[in-house]
Amino acid sequence: MDKDTLRTALSCKCPHCAQGDLYKSRYTLQLHKNCPSCGYDFAGSDSADGPAVFLIFILGFTIVPAALFVELTFEPPFWVHMILWTPLVIALTVAFLRPVKSYVLALHHKYISEGR
Ligand SMILES: [Zn+2]
Repeated sequence: MDKDTLRTALSCKCPHCAQGDLYKSRYTLQLHKNCPSCGYDFAGSDSADGPAVFLIFILGFTIVPAALFVELTFEPPFWVHMILWTPLVIALTVAFLRPVKSYVLALHHKYISEGR
């Protein structure tokens, strides 16, 4: 994992020039058709369900052990788990879906698009 690819992905910038915004706005997952800065065509960049699957694995492997730890250590009532974990999972999903999608697209650009 090189730092430039990761930095570009976390800032949600174009994987080709690292300047133009990848998404149409801050609150959407819709990509521009072309990079606003360099004109790079994003049409061939389709991450499909990859980012969501990565997030399911990452959050699942971190939240489930945390929930089990809380359950086994403190034995709280069920509603505490609902209040604690549901908003946390939703917030983390919303916070990380754009950067993870950007990272998948950056890796796609790095290993597939540049290799043609
Ligand atoms: Zn660009």
